[in-house]
Amino acid sequence: MTTNSRLMDDHGLLGGVKPLLLTPGFVDAHIHPDKTTWGSGWLSRLPAQTLPDLIAHDLRAQLSFQDSVEDRAFALMRHAVLNGTMAMRAHVDVAPQLGLRNVHGVRAAAERLAPFLDVQIVAFPQFGLVSNPGTLDLMEASLTEGADLVGGIDPISLDGDLRSHLDAVFRLANRYGRDVDIHLHDEGPEGLAQLRAIAQRTVSEGMHGRVTIGHAFALCDIAQPELGATLDAMAEAGMWMATCALGADPVPALDLMESHGVRVALGSDGVRDAWSPYGTGSMTDRAHLLGYRTGALTDAELERCFRIATTAGAELVGSAAVIGFSGAGSDDRLEFAANSIPELVVDRPAPLRVVRNGRTVTL
Ligand SMILES: [Zn+2]
Repeated sequence: MTTNSRLMDDHGLLGGVKPLLLTPGFVDAHIHPDKTTWGSGWLSRLPAQTLPDLIAHDLRAQLSFQDSVEDRAFALMRHAVLNGTMAMRAHVDVAPQLGLRNVHGVRAAAERLAPFLDVQIVAFPQFGLVSNPGTLDLMEASLTEGADLVGGIDPISLDGDLRSHLDAVFRLANRYGRDVDIHLHDEGPEGLAQLRAIAQRTVSEGMHGRVTIGHAFALCDIAQPELGATLDAMAEAGMWMATCALGADPVPALDLMESHGVRVALGSDGVRDAWSPYGTGSMTDRAHLLGYRTGALTDAELERCFRIATTAGAELVGSAAVIGFSGAGSDDRLEFAANSIPELVVDRPAPLRVVRNGRTVTL
């Protein structure tokens, strides 16, 4: 039994099989509900060799969807709530090709789920920031129309210039007092150099603890000589890494992240969108995938995956409902039929009951 395991012996056996296990709620720290086809028909994916291929397919798919952003986002977010997600950070596309409809749609879906789900929206320049004229103005407008954070994406390989990208992102963040969350797919020395530049900028802008890097594949190659120095720079800036444990993509060495003091959160990334036919929006599934992809074997390693999917993510997004969990008396809790947290991560059952503000969630 561990601190996270709240095995309720007095509840006896459920269904004659497993006891009741109470846990804190999940936090999905990186998801794209505006792009999903959840609740709509099947989308056939096209082959893609490069990031620009995937981005082009994404835009084409989004422009072809018949169901609204709000309807698709609501379907996925509702499913996430019923599977125990209590807070999420949603990266939502902002671009002249789409206007602000994605931000408006996800915010509307979030309002319908407000009693059960805390939603942060990152204004995400998926199709380029300085390289896609008109995006910066829309990003600024989005911050007063439903977006909470300023996003960014691959300053060099996708947007073409590190300095102008970071200038744009941090200027907006400063002007509106918002946190920053940047997608960085670039690997190798170039990826690490960008991470150090972002860390330096985070410190010089006085934004300690308020900057997250999504994916950060460069941090996943332990053979890179500059990795240690980069992790130290990130830790000094209080930066977070959000990983998604995606099938073919690299995952971080969690021991190494911990030993350097870089905090890790976990998210779904794209669910059933043009990028991927996979994903369920269930963070029980995602904790399982993190464990599977990182080779978690011991109870302590499996419990760490669960912690990253729950309380660590809650620290990132500031979710009091998840952080405040204290066991049986908690007004916000999940109830599972499971013997322990490690078993839960491996078996990935759906919760028997999701409780918010002392009441069972029904949707
Ligand atoms: Zn993403």
